[in-house]
Amino acid sequence: MTSDSSPTPLAASASRPRHAFPTLTTQQVSRIGAHGRRRQTASGEVLVEAGDRQVPCFVVVSGELEVVQLSGATETLIVRHQPGQFSGEGSMITGRPALAQVRVSKPGEVIHLDREQLLRIIQTDAELSEILMRAFILRRVELIARDLGDVVVIGSTHSPGTLRVKEFLTRSGHPFHYLDLDRDRDAQDMLDRFNVGVADTPVVICRGQAVMRNPSNSQIADCLGFNEEIDQRRVGDIVIVGAGPAGLAAAVYGASEGLDVIVFESNVPGGQAGSSSRIENYLGFPTGISGLELTGRAHAQALKFGAHIMVARGATRLACDGQRYTVETEKGVRIAARAVIIATGVEYRRPALDNLTTFEGAGVYYAATPMEAQLCAGEEVAIVGGGNSAGQAAVFLASTARRVHMLVRGSGLAETMSRYLVRRIEENPAIVLRTSTQIVALEGDGQLTRVGWRDDRTGEVETHDIRHLFLMTGAVPNTRWLDGCLALDDKGFVKTGPDLSSDELAQAAWPLARQPYLLETSRPRIFAVGDVRGGNVKRVASAVGEGAIAIALVHQVLRQ
Ligand SMILES: Cc1cc2nc3c(=O)[nH]c(=O)nc-3n(C[C@H](O)[C@H](O)[C@H](O)COP(=O)(O)OP(=O)(O)OC[C@H]3O[C@@H](n4cnc5c(N)ncnc54)[C@H](O)[C@@H]3O)c2cc1C
Repeated sequence: MTSDSSPTPLAASASRPRHAFPTLTTQQVSRIGAHGRRRQTASGEVLVEAGDRQVPCFVVVSGELEVVQLSGATETLIVRHQPGQFSGEGSMITGRPALAQVRVSKPGEVIHLDREQLLRIIQTDAELSEILMRAFILRRVELIARDLGDVVVIGSTHSPGTLRVKEFLTRSGHPFHYLDLDRDRDAQDMLDRFNVGVADTPVVICRGQAVMRNPSNSQIADCLGFNEEIDQRRVGDIVIVGAGPAGLAAAVYGASEGLDVIVFESNVPGGQAGSSSRIENYLGFPTGISGLELTGRAHAQALKFGAHIMVARGATRLACDGQRYTVETEKGVRIAARAVIIATGVEYRRPALDNLTTFEGAGVYYAATPMEAQLCAGEEVAIVGGGNSAGQAAVFLASTARRVHMLVRGSGLAETMSRYLVRRIEENPAIVLRTSTQIVALEGDGQLTRVGWRDDRTGEVETHDIRHLFLMTGAVPNTRWLDGCLALDDKGFVKTGPDLSSDELAQAAWPLARQPYLLETSRPRIFAVGDVRGGNVKRVASAVGEGAIAIALVHQVLRQ
């Protein structure tokens, strides 16, 4: 076995090593000791193997531990833990499999904490919680920055699946190494080694073993062990469907207040907010925060309090006839719950363009994150839409793109966009605002190369060499899966509380003497929160607030 000493170990390279690799005081170690079990260690003993689930955390009392990543015959030293230091990174919070091996480099003594014991410390000891959570998150950030993961993605910017897979892994906070077939000669060698044709891209090599050809997000989640097994016989207090800001807030408040919470998310936690480049109007972040960072923290917070979050597991049906509600998900999982919170948000409306699907992910995008920005650096881009998300995307992309054309159907932005964004757009010379303009044509061979738009005032159509088009044209609610269970408004949003008419309640056979509570739907104990709810205000803050309110109401209905 060779030892690859070239990359700098994390402890030496982390920008904030004091926080990522803190040394606990004697008093802190003894507080941890009260929860765990002391044990002796022997030189060379493997305490955690890469891929292990429910990984324990080890606090070094004496001796030394080293964390290494093994790839074939090559070992990469990630870090060494000295007395007072502790093992573990982000997967300690998520409960996902370990990314690296932990072994004893100098014999001595450790405190062994299993995940439940660790979570108990995090939930009850504020000082240790801050030290441990911060260290785990910073270590994961560093692993991502250095591609020190167990996944290789081989793809091409011209294959729509590649962007999807990269986005799924990035938004899941999972480190991966990307090989671009268009730029990297090694990538083709790799494909040949695994006997895979270019047509099968993107190829995902999971843990150096499973080779998956254009896998679905759910297949990737299974291979990487993102989801724990859940006992389908149990009846949870609440099932939350959707892990955008509203669902995550409900999970944080529900789990922290002692409720048994399961969340099903069809993609990755974060929702629309997770795709926002910078949220500047959310209370408490005066300089703004990226959507990924905000929702990543919320995800960690929900897990810290013990919520179970299943990713790439969309709800496909709500069985609402009986006394007990059951949510059915992809892969046939069925979970019964005493209360259900619908937080499935919205998805972008697709303009009626004949060949739109051909270019989705190959020049047509629905989000403007750093990943898309990288693809169009130095080029011209077009954005369709006049709302806040289009405005944010324009300002964000203008920092890297050569020119941003903003196509807006209306005669201006004032009525649809926040004032601060309108001003930034007006003052940015890289943004060209085209009002009364509609997108009418897409051209290209597999990859978008030209875009046509029409000026509605003159009827004139112009075509431009533009390879990147961002569609941000309003949204439709994700309510199809509810299949007649709940009363919806004429646009498909879920009706709640005082918005439900007596006719609608009679039609739904509302069985109680009381009227539905504020966020309660036409069925008792089923609530709807955030963007999926009729009359919502499409803001992160309101989605979070509704998630919190729904939990207060769940307590109330469960007591009745
Ligand atoms: C680019 C962009 C920028 C934005 N910027 C701002 C901003 O600066 N400030 C602001 O206040 N607001 C902003 N918004 C709006 C804000 O993000 C939304 O109002 C907020 O995310 C709504 O939260 P939600 O949880 O209700 O729904 P969503 O964020 O839509 O989340 C719903 C979740 O449910 C999941 N889901 C859908 N169907 C299913 C199913 N069947 N089973 C399981 N899961 C399912 C989805 O995958 C998604 O993760 C922005 C939106 C976008 C798109």
